[in-house]
Amino acid sequence: MKIVIKHNQQPAPPPVPEKKFIFRKAGEAYNGPAKPTQNQPAAGSKKPADHVMRLLRFSCEVTEWAREQHRAGKRIGFVPTMGFLHAGHLSLVEEARKQSDVVCLSIFVNPTQFGPNEDLEKYPRDEENDLRLCREEGVDMVFLPRPDGMYAPDASVFVDEEKLQRGLCGSRRPGHFRGVCTVVAKLFNIVQPDVAVFGQKDFQQVAVIRRMVRDLNFPIDIVMAPTMREADGMAMSSRNVYLSPTERENALGVSRALKSLGSVGAGHPAAEPMREQMRAVLEQYGLREDYVAIVDADTLEPVSHVEAGNVALIAAYCGKTRLIDNRIL
Ligand code: AMP
Repeated sequence: MKIVIKHNQQPAPPPVPEKKFIFRKAGEAYNGPAKPTQNQPAAGSKKPADHVMRLLRFSCEVTEWAREQHRAGKRIGFVPTMGFLHAGHLSLVEEARKQSDVVCLSIFVNPTQFGPNEDLEKYPRDEENDLRLCREEGVDMVFLPRPDGMYAPDASVFVDEEKLQRGLCGSRRPGHFRGVCTVVAKLFNIVQPDVAVFGQKDFQQVAVIRRMVRDLNFPIDIVMAPTMREADGMAMSSRNVYLSPTERENALGVSRALKSLGSVGAGHPAAEPMREQMRAVLEQYGLREDYVAIVDADTLEPVSHVEAGNVALIAAYCGKTRLIDNRIL
């Protein structure tokens, strides 16, 4: 007897695709699902006028899309996000486009990576603006699952990395990387990318994902793109929207603390005075340290003496907002 297990625990797409599956020109009549219509690219758009961006909400549709791309010999680039997009996210799309033929961006505020007292409920969301930015940036497909569309109510399998997450954000946010690894593994299975791009802004996250990809044999290249910054040096983040104008000024202390280290020469300076120096800058800006660390870029273990290629990382509270940033020395 042949037993076939289908991935049928996922919600099925509606029988008649809703108009939101494909963007249309304003005012254009909806003539059924099969015929992709064209976007009207905004001024400054990076894609030609006939570019069509698809919006998919069901994982099975996304996998079908991915299979079509692969059948056509196309390489899929992937940028997973939690939305409320800014230029940092868009730089990842640009990098993904360089490395692939079609780009998928996902928007999902993943509940399993938030701790019980974290900002899941108030995490900023702006679907309409996100989609506009994606269209202008020439994203080919946006995967925007419904809030309850990613996890079965009785989900009981999770992915957990056990070494690289021990320190830094992993120790300050217990369970965070289990949530990240689980959702990224799921997204990788759904989107089937050839290359996925992550931001250096979340340095530990990239290290953990790389390890997951290596240890679980995901056939995916992981690319780390540089941190995009505001004109004054502050790292862009969706969470910056929480900051009041005064807090925004103080928040600059995080990037200033990292910058204060200057460049590391050949002398292998001791790490502790450098950490103290960063702490002093944080204090000067009225920021509360969560951690200040200098680590080996591969193992994420703290170093006692610093050499080029080590990474300085800071997590600090500005009021109630937790900010992170890092610098490769
Ligand atoms: P998030 O939406 O915060 O989960 O971030 C999605 C992706 O964007 C992650 O790979 C982040 O590291 C990346 N990212 C966030 N902020 C920046 C930034 N300022 N520059 C570059 N990448 C970023």
